[in-house]
Amino acid sequence: MAPTVSLRRATRRALLLLAAATAVGAQQSQPIDQEYTAKIREHLQDPRITTELVDHLPAHPTIPTPLKFFGRIVGTPGELTYAADIHRYYQALDAASDRVKVWKIGTSEEGRDMYVLAVADEATIRDLDRYRGYLKELTDPRRTSEARARELIRTAKPIYWVTTGLHSGETGGPEMVMELAYRLAVSDQPLIKNIRENAITFITPVLEVDGRERQVDTYYFNKTRPTGEARLPLMYWGKYVAHDNNRDGMGQFLALTRNTNKFFLEWTPQVMHDLHESVSYLYTSTGTGPYNEWLDPITVTEWWTMAQVDVMEMTKRGVPGVWTYGFYDGWTPNYLFFAAHAHNAIGRFYEVQSYGPDNNPSLRVGPQTTSREWFRPNPPLPEIKWGPRNSVNIGQSGLLFSLDHFATNRQLYLENYWLKNKRSVEKGRAGPTYAWHVPANQRRRVDAVDAINELQRQGLEIHVADADYTLGSTRVQRGDWIIRADQPYRTLADMYFSVQNFSPANPRPYDDTGWTFQLMRNVVVTPVSDSSVLTRRMTPLTAPARATGGIAGSGRVVIVDHTTDNALVTMRFRLKDVAMRAAQADFEAGGRRYRAGAFIIPDADAARIGPVLSELGLQGYAVAAMPGVATHDLDVPRIGYVHSWQRTQDEGWVRAAFDTYGVPYEYFADQRLREGNLRSKYDVIIFPSVGGSAQAQVNGIAMTGTMPLPYKKTEQTPNLGANDQSDDIRGGMGIEGLMALYEFVKAGGTLIVEGATSTIFPEYNLTTGITVEEPDSLFARGSIYRGIVTDRRSPIAYGFNAQLPVYFSQAPVLAVQGSTPAGGGGFGGGANTNAQQQNTTPMATRVTVSNWDWNAIEGTPPADASATAPAAGAARGGAAQAGARSGAAATGRGNAAAAGTGGANAAGAGAGATGGTPAARSAPRDTRPRAILSFPANPAEMLLSGTLAGGQALANRAQVVDAPIGDGHVVMFGIRPFWRWQTHGTFFLGFNAILHWNDLDAGR
Ligand SMILES: [Zn+2]
Repeated sequence: MAPTVSLRRATRRALLLLAAATAVGAQQSQPIDQEYTAKIREHLQDPRITTELVDHLPAHPTIPTPLKFFGRIVGTPGELTYAADIHRYYQALDAASDRVKVWKIGTSEEGRDMYVLAVADEATIRDLDRYRGYLKELTDPRRTSEARARELIRTAKPIYWVTTGLHSGETGGPEMVMELAYRLAVSDQPLIKNIRENAITFITPVLEVDGRERQVDTYYFNKTRPTGEARLPLMYWGKYVAHDNNRDGMGQFLALTRNTNKFFLEWTPQVMHDLHESVSYLYTSTGTGPYNEWLDPITVTEWWTMAQVDVMEMTKRGVPGVWTYGFYDGWTPNYLFFAAHAHNAIGRFYEVQSYGPDNNPSLRVGPQTTSREWFRPNPPLPEIKWGPRNSVNIGQSGLLFSLDHFATNRQLYLENYWLKNKRSVEKGRAGPTYAWHVPANQRRRVDAVDAINELQRQGLEIHVADADYTLGSTRVQRGDWIIRADQPYRTLADMYFSVQNFSPANPRPYDDTGWTFQLMRNVVVTPVSDSSVLTRRMTPLTAPARATGGIAGSGRVVIVDHTTDNALVTMRFRLKDVAMRAAQADFEAGGRRYRAGAFIIPDADAARIGPVLSELGLQGYAVAAMPGVATHDLDVPRIGYVHSWQRTQDEGWVRAAFDTYGVPYEYFADQRLREGNLRSKYDVIIFPSVGGSAQAQVNGIAMTGTMPLPYKKTEQTPNLGANDQSDDIRGGMGIEGLMALYEFVKAGGTLIVEGATSTIFPEYNLTTGITVEEPDSLFARGSIYRGIVTDRRSPIAYGFNAQLPVYFSQAPVLAVQGSTPAGGGGFGGGANTNAQQQNTTPMATRVTVSNWDWNAIEGTPPADASATAPAAGAARGGAAQAGARSGAAATGRGNAAAAGTGGANAAGAGAGATGGTPAARSAPRDTRPRAILSFPANPAEMLLSGTLAGGQALANRAQVVDAPIGDGHVVMFGIRPFWRWQTHGTFFLGFNAILHWNDLDAGR
């Protein structure tokens, strides 16, 4: 592929001579790499897609161009470069140029390295650490005086961090930045020199290093397929998720996110600019709004300033199709580049027309894309010849104009950065929120620690209270966490802890509309409005917090309460050979109260169990004898985990939770369900959301062509097949597979489905009494809603309070006969009905957000849904109505309500009444579906954070359903309990279904 060395050398010498000969006025004319430049012209498909910055490449006697290194220029059709080779090229630049420095910034889940390249003038590169120190000083106005800041604004150099290769199917960014790095290091054009001397450019060429290698494998593999045969889609970008790898900014589960965040905090760049490809031809981000309301207003103007510079400079040069505004909103902070916003820097992105890498002789786009709009003064053309070199030219030019603007306005951006940090601190001193309080001793104690550690990892300073004190209505205990609001990164706290109110009158949201951190995690965090908090005794938390645990007391029986702390599931599987039982009701033992679901180890070896509890931060209490509560065995299930080849995007988040909390499983494709005989292999099968209709999910990838479509690790595709392999990924489970699943359930297995896979059994009429509704009037996009526990006796609800914040996004809406009023949904205010007039102040229309009151919820005694009056008293508003409805249903079944003993705890009595022995099944089994968790009856009580219109359609609809079939169960989640590593508060709904897989009928 590469020309021989001697030929290359000869050519280079000739070109250098030629360049020297044609140079007039040696000072400003740098020799041009003629061979490279000729190839730029050759590969460019349309002469309009270029600028004077990228229509040539300067030559250098010792620094290798991509052509010298790879034997082809960047933008050569039909070729892609592996991340490992891009990194090798960067190292060659480092070796050859004093203006470049390259280093590793972390490792992926599969062990591949991520890199950064820094480029600036020689003196700056030699002194990088000094410049880093300057930026650190500007980050903290508590330690830096105004005078010092003014001096730094003159002398410091801001950092602009270019990142790309996050979305693996978008192939051009990693290619383009190779040439960008060379050009920035070598070119003597005044604009480039300005960038080099006045700013520091960082480039991370591939963020998703695992996905990049798979993408390159997949591309070359597909090239070998005859026409008409099926093409391999890109599966498993990273180990866990695909496209969602840019939506991990809040959860920060993925290695790439953690590495990015860590690097960001080490270097505090002023801009983070992520390069994507999805629209024509170059979109430079601002967004339609609404913008995240917790950004400093300066940032919003910076977005606009930078975007306008890009549009203006490119438009000036006659390049069509460069625009801003009409794509994306700017609302949710879950994007990777919000690492910048959460830390008072600027996060932005490009979307460039696809790189290919094959030429497209006729790229056509419709009127939605070509119309002349105020935000698109020179729109894309109805038809153009496109190719990878077009993509390189347009993306690189835009970026160079941005960098030039940034370097030229160095002091402006440094000053803005300083101001934003200063204003953050001042905001905390001015109130009304002076701090946030996180009780250490809350019910979900271990997950609170986890939340604190995550916030600290993301840069928030945490303090520990050194004494007990009262702040307004807040009682602080020694050891509680205080998050001071007078810190530079309080922006992050504002973004995470606030409640969102997204008006449906806005343009369609681009992603989630609600994300309130403490609601999703079900961890108590309360704002403090007493300014004296800032003078109270507290100590900075300098190491990760730890939950203490172990065994207190003595006796053979050890009880661990069910708090829904996720570490509890780890405990069960870590001690899988230890017999454990679960309490079927609330009870008292040794002077302590425990919740239904408490883990009871009847014959505990303290020497073995103690250290495990201690490590997990769980507290066990030893007592002399088994408590007098009905219990069932916690039989450790064999778990099968099904994925579809059709889409490997969402299931990874469920896997993330299983892997983190040590839930073991056998992972296999839905095609293998056809083999049948599932009950002999598994007790539990989990099939996370795939997406699409029930039929599409059953059918899988279409049986196109005559050749099998393998997804395997081979010599040709060494990076495929890491998670799973198949000789032919076409065809899904099919009807045979679906029937095998049905037989599995009938024979006593438990099938757990969530999101779209919840619709399969009802749509194929394999369950009775459950309807999947599709209400037209409903607008409920990625928000947090109130969940009412409508069946507290079900093991799936063990450990939870009477209400729970849950994540739900539009579908599926599940109606359960007996707990949902007949006649379908009513109509509320419709969304987006402003068809004729553009609403320029959409945020003036507020949605009704219902208040989540930790005290009311936490203080609620375990309400019993079946006891009509007490339940109504215990739960608030919609809860009461839902409770009453469910109670009526339970009474109709002649169940436990009658056995109530008059205490707050009729649930316990109910369970006791059934004898607590799972074998007692002489009567015919009640096979009606149970709605475990439901939306409130009253739409005004549904929304906790985010958006909602037409909420009537959700009234009393089920969020979690347990549908019995034969001897087994299908547990359906309409909500998403494992959403993007953000919903730790609902993980245990899934874990409960697993742990109690053969006792789900308890409490019926
Ligand atoms: Zn993208």
